[in-house]
Amino acid sequence: MSPYTPGEQPQSGKVIKLNTNENPYPPSPRVAEAIVSASNRLERYPDPLGTSFRIAASAALNVEPEMILCGNGSDDCLTILTRAFVGQHDRLRLPYPSYILYRTLAEIQSAQFEEVPLSPAYQLTDAFASPDPRVKLIYLPNPNSPTGTFIDHESILALADKMPCPIVVDEAYVDFAPKSAISLVKDNPKIIVTRTLSKSYALAGLRFGFLVAHPEIVRTLCKVKDSYNTDALSLAGATAAITDQAWLRNNVSRIRQTRDRMTISMRGLGFAVLDSHANFIWCTRADRPTKPIYEQLKTRGILVRYMNYPNWSDGLRISVGTDEQIEALLVVLKDIL
Ligand SMILES: *Cc1c(COP(=O)(O)O)cnc(C)c1O
Repeated sequence: MSPYTPGEQPQSGKVIKLNTNENPYPPSPRVAEAIVSASNRLERYPDPLGTSFRIAASAALNVEPEMILCGNGSDDCLTILTRAFVGQHDRLRLPYPSYILYRTLAEIQSAQFEEVPLSPAYQLTDAFASPDPRVKLIYLPNPNSPTGTFIDHESILALADKMPCPIVVDEAYVDFAPKSAISLVKDNPKIIVTRTLSKSYALAGLRFGFLVAHPEIVRTLCKVKDSYNTDALSLAGATAAITDQAWLRNNVSRIRQTRDRMTISMRGLGFAVLDSHANFIWCTRADRPTKPIYEQLKTRGILVRYMNYPNWSDGLRISVGTDEQIEALLVVLKDIL
């Protein structure tokens, strides 16, 4: 199988890093405090279910603790879901363009993946609901990557009505978007939502994610997860982070403001930019190739993500940094262009 290639993570040198949608700001100060205080109990195994986090997240998100399953990053939750629902020769349905990792998860299971093109407005089409008994799971990243676009909830509910299999709404970027599908899970047991603390909580290095599903599904998923899939330090940090919702609101509002200004500036430089509901923007150009722009930015110490999706588009996915980082990006881009 071909490996999944994550964005570059340079381990030294001074770069402006706008390639993997990390948050440019430090996390809530409560996170470090909680980790330090948990660090004197490391001789013990952690709580296999992450009860402290489930209770804190239950209060923050208004769902029952029994509906929450913790993961070592949301990628772990996606692995658990695929392992549980998709067997050999089964099929995983996903949108095109979208997050490349889903393909790898299908391949690990010796399953197939089926990429269904989104509409020109990046919404679902009837093809997503086309009957196929081999399809055992559908992934819908919302907001989507790399487009940053948002699928309306009515069409997700309509899809859940038509398809017999679970639909996973991957909400890695939802805190930057208008609304979450978590409130839909209770009345629609086929809908499962995954979340991460990597982006909006500025904790990509901590490795913590979770999913929200019907309690019976959560109990079933526990059968195929590692017993101790979240460690004591990340559980402590994640619990502190989700409790600090004031920090989240403040951070999200800063990122959104920078994103909207950055979108206007990039359009001013001749890029076509989709309206984004995430913490990154997708930039293309009709007049010249974007790969050399990525390469020249890299030699000048600015890392963005160049992506090529055959039969759709290639372009630059640029994470929303601090105002200073984006200012530096714009100066260098003007020079390159
Ligand atoms: C970043 C991202 C994830 C993974 O998040 P982790 O919690 O860091 O594993 C999942 N889905 C999408 C669409 C993402 O962009």
